[in-house]
Amino acid sequence: MKSLAVALSLTLIALGVSAHAEEGVQITPAGSTPTLIGNARNFSGQAAVDLKAAGDSDKLAGVGMVTFMPGARTAWHTHPDGQLLIVTAGKGWVQEAGQPRREIKAGDVVWIAAGVKHWHGAARDSLMRHLAIAYMRDGRNADWKELVSDAQYDAH
Ligand code: MN
Repeated sequence: MKSLAVALSLTLIALGVSAHAEEGVQITPAGSTPTLIGNARNFSGQAAVDLKAAGDSDKLAGVGMVTFMPGARTAWHTHPDGQLLIVTAGKGWVQEAGQPRREIKAGDVVWIAAGVKHWHGAARDSLMRHLAIAYMRDGRNADWKELVSDAQYDAH
């Protein structure tokens, strides 16, 4: 029976389907999932989201590459177990509630601690792209709040 199982596994691998999706080394080819447009409840302006890993009960984090057009930003939100941002292109801003906004640019790494209300997005005159790694707690990795108004976005 073992040889049958091995033969079946090899057949599935040949078909590009793993019978054990969580084992071994996995490669998800670029473009495997469609680019999503950030929805208007959680984003202002144009933001494109390429989901790299879905956050679910088996994963430690949801991972997405997010590209913000100039002026685009997230709504205010918190992360129940924190978030790591790695800026890969352009220039943008991140703001913790009650603090001045801060500039971030390609190469910068940002850590947002659990429960801290904040937003992140592009600058007015530049796109900004970051890899966002939001750690899961109790099956959630973000709690969304109100949109960032133009007055809040432009204040500094
Ligand atoms: Mn965030």
